[in-house]
Amino acid sequence: MPITGEYHREIMKPAKLFLFFSLAVSGYAQTVEVSKEVDAVYPAAHDLYIDLHQTPELSSHETRTAAKLAARLRASGYEVTEGVGGTGVVAILKNGSGPTVMLRTELDALPVEEKTGLSYASKVHAQDDSGRDVPVMHACGHDLHMASLVATADIMAHSKASWHGTLMLIGQPAEETISGAKRMIADGLFMRFPKPTVGVALHVGNYLPAGQVGITPGIYDANADSLRITIYGKGGHGAAPHSTIDPIVIGARTILTLQTIVSREVKPGEMAVVTVGYFRAGTKNNIIPDQAELGLTVRTYKADVRKQVLTAITRIAKAEALAGGAQQEPLIEDYESTDSVYNDPGLAQRLRAPLEAALGKQNVVTTEPITPSEDYTFFIEQGVPSLYMSLGGADPRKYAESKNTGVMLPSNHSPFFAPDVDPALHSGIKAEVAVLRNLLNGPSQ
Ligand SMILES: [Zn+2]
Ligand SMILES: [Zn+2]
Repeated sequence: MPITGEYHREIMKPAKLFLFFSLAVSGYAQTVEVSKEVDAVYPAAHDLYIDLHQTPELSSHETRTAAKLAARLRASGYEVTEGVGGTGVVAILKNGSGPTVMLRTELDALPVEEKTGLSYASKVHAQDDSGRDVPVMHACGHDLHMASLVATADIMAHSKASWHGTLMLIGQPAEETISGAKRMIADGLFMRFPKPTVGVALHVGNYLPAGQVGITPGIYDANADSLRITIYGKGGHGAAPHSTIDPIVIGARTILTLQTIVSREVKPGEMAVVTVGYFRAGTKNNIIPDQAELGLTVRTYKADVRKQVLTAITRIAKAEALAGGAQQEPLIEDYESTDSVYNDPGLAQRLRAPLEAALGKQNVVTTEPITPSEDYTFFIEQGVPSLYMSLGGADPRKYAESKNTGVMLPSNHSPFFAPDVDPALHSGIKAEVAVLRNLLNGPSQ
């Protein structure tokens, strides 16, 4: 709905009353108030979630997803721009003077075959960028983030008296390939549109029971580096190894030596992960190939540990090639990297109270940094201090059981990843509304 003078007059009286009421009453009353607003938009949010879950799209191919998001946000009265940095969506709602606050969701799904057995499980297949047919699944919960953002957008558009400033919602493509945030920024995200004063995002996962929200002040997640190591040997007959330099043996030794970086070189207690996710070499059992390729992911929290680990990987890869008699140094490519997301500690502190008021004090917890990574950090590095929250996704009963038995629940990216939708989506919407109203100087401050 456009802001007309009449509309303003019409809502100002109850708005002032609402403001006074909200400031005066207890957190309990605020919880009830937000719950009612969420209940009103929830059926539509749930339908959207199911629809998005059944129609996942791969990174950078989120055309239908983006169109759905854009249509809903336009219908709620937002000024929507599509095609920002590929399939990105930007939706703006101006509501008088005040700060500009950004809320971000991702749009993309993953090449994973869903095995949850849910009635609404994805059966989608698509061609990936190399032309291979792959199953597609929202195995990271981005469908839940989108449904939450759209519902939050609707509530904010219908309660303009509770906030003032500019609300900027973004649907970011290609998070899983760590390329979408960069592309949106390169396409003028913070020049064509207002630059946000602060930013907010959340991520659902089984690390918390549904109903809870986690805040991690400071470092929230890990620095990520994707490395490709090509080892050069000398090919030949499998029956005549003496005439070859076997890159498979060099690769196997390299993989084992790499494991000593974390166990022997990094100071105990510092976070570092070195995973070799693939090892490719050879075509036939009796041929020694002339090269082998290793694919690594490296995760760290601290910049100096990151440097130490990457230096050690280079040293080991080169030294193992030398030890194996390779006549050419291995090629080491850091082809994809992102810095850890840093949660502004002041913001984390400020937003705890409104979150507690909306969700209940016991449902807002302080969480440890996580080891996955995210490209949201590129927005922060543009000068947008942010809070990136953890949203509980686990069925509370299964969560308690898993704590007892020590058997982990499926992580994000698992074919079995299935958030407990009702409590998770409810609390996602409540958390977003509470945080946005606070940042936009609303009554919950
Ligand atoms: Zn993911
Ligand atoms: Zn994700």
